[in-house]
Amino acid sequence: MSVDIQKFPGGEFALTTADFFINWARESSLWPLTFGLACCAIEMMGAYASRFDFDRFGVIPRPSPRQADVMIIAGTVVKKMAEPIRTIYHQMPEPRFVISMGSCANCGGPYYDSYSVVKGVDKIIPVDIYIAGCPPRPEALQYAVLKLQQRIRKMKPSRTAMATIPQDKGARTLV
Ligand code: SF4
Repeated sequence: MSVDIQKFPGGEFALTTADFFINWARESSLWPLTFGLACCAIEMMGAYASRFDFDRFGVIPRPSPRQADVMIIAGTVVKKMAEPIRTIYHQMPEPRFVISMGSCANCGGPYYDSYSVVKGVDKIIPVDIYIAGCPPRPEALQYAVLKLQQRIRKMKPSRTAMATIPQDKGARTLV
């Protein structure tokens, strides 16, 4: 059991591990960086609006990379934006996560043959979760966050920072 509730006369107390507590706090407060690249960003904004209400997952967008731990790549990544995206990614504190939202971010999408489009954001930064679709709906983004929360639950924060989610290809998730 992750949390052991013990009762005593007049009250109760909870016992748990540091790993569980840190992961619970981390997965319950995923703060994405506020930026969008193209039409998928409209769906991302829809996920924050009252109909879908991302706040109830603890997902609250932040305007600064230094306060964010999730980067949602929502839209077409043109080559001109590749370097700024990489810079912003490295300004985020560890552990940081990346969600690739939509066909453009995954592989270039309908602009795969364009001279100016990066054929997948994973060519420039590591991606944890991929969302298929053009565009994916807000529910798909919310499902991706739920999958990310599941992965965070399995992290080992008590080990070194390098023991977080492995970024190798086999560890990534397609939703
Ligand atoms: S995947 Fe489709 S909706 Fe999303 S940015 Fe590309 S063209 Fe636009």
